[in-house]
Amino acid sequence: MKRIILLGATGSIGRSTLDVVRAHPDRFCVVAASAHTNARSLARAADELTIPRVVLAGESGVEGLCRMVAETEAEIVVNAVAGAAGLRPSIAALESGKDLALANKETIVMAGELVRGLATEHECLLLPIDSEHSALFFLLDRIDRSRIRRLVLTASGGAFRDAEIAELERVTVEDALAHPTWSMGPKITIDSATMANKGLEIIEAVRLFDMPVDAIDVYIHRQSTVHALVRTVDGSMYAQMSAPDMRIPIQHALSYPEELPSIFGGVELDGLELTFEAPDPHKYPALDLARRAIALGGEYPVVYNAANETAVEAFVERRIRFPAIATIIEGCLAADWEKLLLSFEQVFDADARARRRARALIARHTNTI
Ligand code: NDP
Ligand code: MG
Repeated sequence: MKRIILLGATGSIGRSTLDVVRAHPDRFCVVAASAHTNARSLARAADELTIPRVVLAGESGVEGLCRMVAETEAEIVVNAVAGAAGLRPSIAALESGKDLALANKETIVMAGELVRGLATEHECLLLPIDSEHSALFFLLDRIDRSRIRRLVLTASGGAFRDAEIAELERVTVEDALAHPTWSMGPKITIDSATMANKGLEIIEAVRLFDMPVDAIDVYIHRQSTVHALVRTVDGSMYAQMSAPDMRIPIQHALSYPEELPSIFGGVELDGLELTFEAPDPHKYPALDLARRAIALGGEYPVVYNAANETAVEAFVERRIRFPAIATIIEGCLAADWEKLLLSFEQVFDADARARRRARALIARHTNTI
């Protein structure tokens, strides 16, 4: 029986994780779970699955969350917290010797090298849940490193994939939240529309798989059936395909290195169409900004993430227009940041400084909305 600590149990990934546990009651049990403020939904899950320990991060603070992670005996922590708030609990998981299944891509974007160092030091596994990285993790496990030339991340293109650039000035929060293929939390859904999500994922892939940023391609793939591809030296291409259902990569991370039979449905080949289009860099400036951020390294990816989170909040509160999200990221990256990242404290400090800068830039944009 694998004991799981589930952080962010009430969110989109958290609820999908509970589904995987329900599907395999003989294999998995949840021994602790957290939410931010949604006490009712957390209590309901705890009752149903007899979860002995729960914590509300909104009340206990991040310290309470980290204490629960450190003190509860478990094999694996699933981090499905949204945003930069997920980094400290990830550190707590690894420091207490637990494997870490990461939906929280911010952990890797902000501090990938430090986090990997911690995982090595404590002999813990780092298992990606993000569907593209779960796919790459699976493929790279099976293809000899020396054969690999390029990685391809697929993207849905988000809510505005058929919109003209000029229309983006007028889109609303509701428009941005209408995702064509995946059902996800609000922040990542807006990130899909700007493709800042794919920007974060480029950084995540560089950090997880030690690939140069120039060897990572992004294609809009409307069907969300192929999650990633690997190009090899002989000109072959290997793809991972599955239904757009996060329970599949979650189950993969939970059962690794074993594979459990899936009860979540496969891909129907009859009439299946697969299309791939290169994204327009003018329509999705957040993509190239992410490439710039990871190429500079150090604090820059932290800044990219913090600026984006702050700008998305402002967009959701209707203080800035949709295209300003990328403008704010660009404005934040334009400042001078350290190119070396030496400690987690530096990460948190850079995160706070980047948010201050983003708020100042947002204040200027707010006057022109
Ligand atoms: P949701 O917004 O649906 O859920 C977030 C969860 O985290 C909720 O349980 C929420 O609690 C909790 N939470 C929010 N803020 C804090 C905080 N400050 N401290 C502690 N807990 C907090 O997000 P998603 O499930 O969509 O995404 C979670 C992570 O997974 C993100 O990093 C996202 O990028 C990543 N991811 C998500 C995918 C998806 O399909 N949804 C796909 C790939 C990656 P409460 O309910 O009380 O607010
Ligand atoms: Mg993804």
